[in-house]
Amino acid sequence: MSEKNYSYKDLVALLNRYAKAYYVDDDPIVTDSEYDRLYRQLEIMEQADPTIISPDSPTRRVGGQALSAFASVTHRVPLLSLGDIFSVSELNDFNERICDFTHEEKVEYCAEPKLDGLAVSLIYENGLLVKAATRGDGRVGEDITENAKTIKAIPLRLSGENVPSYLDVRGEVFMPRDGFEKWNERARQNGGKVFANPRNAAAGSLRQLDSKITAKRPLTFNAYYIGECSNELPDTQYDRLMSVKGWGIPVNPLIKKVYGIKGLSDFYNDILQKRPGLNYDIDGVVLKVNSIPVQEDMGFTARTPRWAIAYKFPPEEEITRLLDVEFQV
Ligand code: NAD
Repeated sequence: MSEKNYSYKDLVALLNRYAKAYYVDDDPIVTDSEYDRLYRQLEIMEQADPTIISPDSPTRRVGGQALSAFASVTHRVPLLSLGDIFSVSELNDFNERICDFTHEEKVEYCAEPKLDGLAVSLIYENGLLVKAATRGDGRVGEDITENAKTIKAIPLRLSGENVPSYLDVRGEVFMPRDGFEKWNERARQNGGKVFANPRNAAAGSLRQLDSKITAKRPLTFNAYYIGECSNELPDTQYDRLMSVKGWGIPVNPLIKKVYGIKGLSDFYNDILQKRPGLNYDIDGVVLKVNSIPVQEDMGFTARTPRWAIAYKFPPEEEITRLLDVEFQV
């Protein structure tokens, strides 16, 4: 795509247009790498002169707005986004910031693959799934309870020991690659909807008004975070995920405890190498300080946790439906 120098105002409008196509319409019009490149350009402009920051800048918000066709759900604990990095030097900066904060030389992290689907929150009361919601703008999401109930990986009732009376567990709904390919092949034969990529297919399938349609789509789920829980929980991210697993909710098998900068970069390289052989799309790794007390001390910015980062992979392939969009204000 040709390099173009946008004014600040045009860049905000352009990114907002792309974000609406991606988050609200589930129909992206540019590749993620192009979006990320322009987003980074906007961040640099805003860092250079914070007085220009517009309240509708995509850097001020999480995701997209909830569709009014769904009932809305206000998250008791917001679902945030993640800061992202793209290079070894940014990884070093992240690790150094954490070391400075903890006064440790070798911090323990919980390292996880970054699943490329969409974030949902599942609420269990007395062990039963009572609500499922999309992230939406982080504060208000869409009620997709009936659709989530059609996903076999999401237990309708928790099992195992010490099931909490209240649990808000967050994770990613995604479409495995084999299911995505089969779906598209059938759609091509029958003239049905062909999806650009598995992320897009997952989002379009989950945000259906008729849950019978969702039920036919090959979706699955992995948990990666506890938003709220009535039980006293272990004090590390890794052990919390093991508790979730113990209640019958799937957790990605590649998550791992790693130590210091070498642990982080080895994990990144290992997952990058495994990426082509996985049956699901990942667009990077998510690196989280493992200690929950440290996470709590570090807290959040308006849109991201300070104790975690997404280290993005280089783009694997451009999405198939790529339009060379020329922006007109
Ligand atoms: P993000 O996707 O970069 O990161 C946050 C999300 O990561 C979370 O909401 C969660 O859903 C997901 N995630 C996956 N695995 C996780 C794990 N193990 N732990 C925690 N979270 C995990 O942020 P975003 O705000 O959802 O979206 C921004 C990205 O979306 C951009 O970087 C871009 O690639 C893409 N995007 C593309 C377009 C486009 O037009 N192509 C438009 C907007 C956004």
